[in-house]
Amino acid sequence: MRIDVVSIFPEYLAALDLSLIGKARQDGLLDLNVHDLRDFTTDRHRTVDDTPYGGGAGMVMKAEPWAQALASVADAGTDGGTANDGGTSDGGTRPVLIVPSPAGAVFTQAMAYELAEEKHLVFACGRYEGIDERVLEWAGERFDVRPVSLGDYVLNGGEVAVLAMVEAIGRLVPGVVGNPESLVEESHSDGLLEYPVYTKPSSWRERDVPEILLSGNHGKIAQWRREQQLQRTAARRPDLLDKFDASQLTKADKAALTALGYEVTKDRILPRG
Ligand code: SAM
Repeated sequence: MRIDVVSIFPEYLAALDLSLIGKARQDGLLDLNVHDLRDFTTDRHRTVDDTPYGGGAGMVMKAEPWAQALASVADAGTDGGTANDGGTSDGGTRPVLIVPSPAGAVFTQAMAYELAEEKHLVFACGRYEGIDERVLEWAGERFDVRPVSLGDYVLNGGEVAVLAMVEAIGRLVPGVVGNPESLVEESHSDGLLEYPVYTKPSSWRERDVPEILLSGNHGKIAQWRREQQLQRTAARRPDLLDKFDASQLTKADKAALTALGYEVTKDRILPRG
């Protein structure tokens, strides 16, 4: 997969040289390139912002440097196919332009899985009050443009959002995480939060690991973990249960949810009362 990130603070993205993403870059699984937006300006001061039309506080990022920067990377991912498909892709698909914005669709694990299938992702890091809206319209001619939010709060710039998204997407690219099994049972992979995890020693500061985990009975451990997933999701993120596909529930799941105060209908999990 090719990834291009455009920012006025390219040094912010240095963390992408570390850990598993850094290793994936070294191994050639992720071809990640960071660009300084100011390199695409033409004036002496390398200006990237100006006052907003209509008045108001703050500055807005100018359209032309963005157009130049995006045009320079638009075709960069067209040769060689993807790392994910062994290079067999026909190169016909448009790159995805992800524009971090608190006014975008909220980033989710499902979105990360979808984007991990792409051949070329471009991230446009906004600053100030954001990017002149016409850039997004113009970019729609060459990119699949997606404004994406990290969550319902406001950051100073898109760089932190890009660090989070590249890590979440990059670790789903085949080969980036050594043991793919570890991706299967994670929070959000099946619509539920992950069960609690423990390691040695079995007794620590008068707190014991749940006995079932020491039993060696894999069936019972799996059942306990599933109950814990349901219990934790109900306690911390009941909104996820509301969206959960109830047809995937086993008899034991339904019993656990009933004990937690939920009513399970054919296609919904509803809090009782
Ligand atoms: N005026 C904008 C608004 O209210 O929608 C906020 C601009 S914010 C100060 C500057 C930049 O930070 C945005 O252009 C975006 O790139 C990034 N940003 C801020 N909050 C974000 C969030 N929740 N998710 C993703 N990016 C965010």
